[in-house]
Amino acid sequence: MPDELPPAFLERLARILPDAALAHVRTPLADDRPTWLRVNRLKTDPGALMRELAAEGIAAAPVPGFDDALQVPAAQRRALTEAPAFHEGRCYIQGLSSQLAAPLLAPQPGETVLDLAAAPGGKTLHLAVLMQNHGRLSAVEPVKERFFRLRANLERAGVTIARTYLMDGRAVGRKVPGRFDRVLLDAPCSSEARIRAGQPQSWAHWSERKIAEQSHKQRRLLLAGLEALRPGGRLLYCTCSFAPEENEGVLSHALRKREDVTLLPLELPVDNWQEGLTEWKGKPLDPRVRQARRILPNARMDGFFLALLEKSG
Ligand code: SAM
Repeated sequence: MPDELPPAFLERLARILPDAALAHVRTPLADDRPTWLRVNRLKTDPGALMRELAAEGIAAAPVPGFDDALQVPAAQRRALTEAPAFHEGRCYIQGLSSQLAAPLLAPQPGETVLDLAAAPGGKTLHLAVLMQNHGRLSAVEPVKERFFRLRANLERAGVTIARTYLMDGRAVGRKVPGRFDRVLLDAPCSSEARIRAGQPQSWAHWSERKIAEQSHKQRRLLLAGLEALRPGGRLLYCTCSFAPEENEGVLSHALRKREDVTLLPLELPVDNWQEGLTEWKGKPLDPRVRQARRILPNARMDGFFLALLEKSG
């Protein structure tokens, strides 16, 4: 397998990302990159977890801007994954970009919430923490093996409000229209943000055709999620792809199909982001998608895309 990033990928990225972010993707990951985790506040708090890990010889440190995150030196990652705190669900290994999603959706205790593409459950667990384990949390995942990992993670984390459904998210809207206060759609995608120089495995499945296939599925999932949302409810759409076809294009399509949906502004606790693109490959997109945010990859965060939609009441 060639160990150069695919030229077509780089060419596209150069039209999406600023130079510094592009340079980051083109640089192999540093071996000393820390591991980030999220403290499970259903079971502990950051201070107690830091003390518990310190007793195991693990030097976890707070992360500015992220109240529930800790970072662990790369050399101690293995020790972390062998620690009781990890096995007993007091923490969950999760990148900082992923930790942005649930707080932006901001589910409240007592609400009825849907996670439409849930496994392995990192964000489902986070939603449950914000809901303080009160309310109803439905988690959907169609891939069997991933579904069972999701269930195990929910159990380990002490989440008691979740119901899990082994099914295709595209069928949910028709089944339970208007049911949910909040919906998270962390959509299946081409995972472009995981592609890094020096790791040929990371782009083994990348192609423009794959992007087109994912885009088609994402459009249908987003429409299903919006249908399942109650009037006045909110949906957070996110992906770990840079591709406009999987992001702004999917949002534009939904805005075209549904006049009762708007995009809301997003307040982020970091400054490495850019507005949604309003044009791609010479074609205009709905200008409202400017409200979406593309997280630019840097030393501590992977690329990500986020947009918050609201259904009018
Ligand atoms: N939210 C998860 C987390 O934070 O741990 C990660 C979700 S991952 C980006 C997308 C998930 O969508 C995958 O587990 C994939 O199997 C699932 N998926 C694929 N096709 C789907 C469909 N038609 N409906 C619902 N989920 C689907």
